[in-house]
Amino acid sequence: MNFQRKKTKKLWLNNVPVGGNAPIVVQSMNNTDTRDVEATLAQIHDLADVGCEVTRVAVPDQVAANALAEIVRQSPIPVIADIHFQAKLALLALENNVAGLRINPGNIGSEEGVRKIAQLALEKNIPIRVGVNSGSLDPEIRDKMGGINSDSMVASVLKFCRMLEKYDFNDICVSIKASDAKLTIDSYRKLAQEVDYPLHLGVTEAGTPKEGIVRSAVGIGTLLAEGIGDTIRVSLTADPLLEVETAYSILKSLGLRSKGPLLIACPTCGRTEVNLQRLAEQVEVLLADIVEPIKVAVMGCPVNGPGEAKEADCGIAGGKDLYLIFRNGRIIEKVDQEHALQALMKEVELARQRYLKDLKK
Ligand code: SF4
Repeated sequence: MNFQRKKTKKLWLNNVPVGGNAPIVVQSMNNTDTRDVEATLAQIHDLADVGCEVTRVAVPDQVAANALAEIVRQSPIPVIADIHFQAKLALLALENNVAGLRINPGNIGSEEGVRKIAQLALEKNIPIRVGVNSGSLDPEIRDKMGGINSDSMVASVLKFCRMLEKYDFNDICVSIKASDAKLTIDSYRKLAQEVDYPLHLGVTEAGTPKEGIVRSAVGIGTLLAEGIGDTIRVSLTADPLLEVETAYSILKSLGLRSKGPLLIACPTCGRTEVNLQRLAEQVEVLLADIVEPIKVAVMGCPVNGPGEAKEADCGIAGGKDLYLIFRNGRIIEKVDQEHALQALMKEVELARQRYLKDLKK
């Protein structure tokens, strides 16, 4: 599946490109206390291990801002400082060489504060994300434009961008998140027509995994499918590692990034002859360490399974006494239950090797 991506400017978060023709970047946010350098770095390493490419840390006070020096020095991925209200913390974060800043210029305290931040960020070549949420609109605009809606969201964020542009600062990324998926979608659609800055997508405060994953997939996925968005963060009330996994699932579903196998499983029906959920979970565990983007199918019956999963590189179809192993929809082996998973993994390895060979062509 190929989507026509809206052309945006490219910026760099250290060595990670965002926007332009760069792959869509997966971000998360630490939920550690930034003042605790050890715990924050440990979580950054965990995030990086699951594929997080950029992380953000909250900087609520001077101790946290000072801690950034060591966090940035040791982090394996770019670190963005998230700062509200206090320009001096943003300046300290810039001095400590963060890869990026996330601020809302409208609440940073003073015009002079914004000027100093823009000037130092320009000098140090550090991008700024202008991040507006439905709860942090410009009050004047919100009141004039009928409250919180996509028009007041866009007008607010454009006003905040202008506060930086005024000082010749254009190394900007923009986000305009709401907790409501529809408002998020409408706002980004309008914003994408107004600016060519890279857009950071997210549905804010999406909630616990059960609701939040769906809401994020709908909000972020819809926009990505329209070619809007250069970097994404899934916000969940959960371990941030799950945010990264979910982000990749969304990107993989749209064929926009390939990281690890795509597991296809049938929904089951009256023909299902095995405990498919258990079988799929077992296969999922076995695939966990594979990084190649191969498609593996787990199907519930040997009659229709291989045909229904023709697009998979390989798969298994479970029957009452018989398991079929198939490759590109063609049955290649019949095995008993005891040897079924082993036989599937042999096929997975062959699919992995085929993928690597194709890459070299
Ligand atoms: S693969 Fe078989 S069990 Fe699964 S949905 Fe199709 S017909 Fe039903």
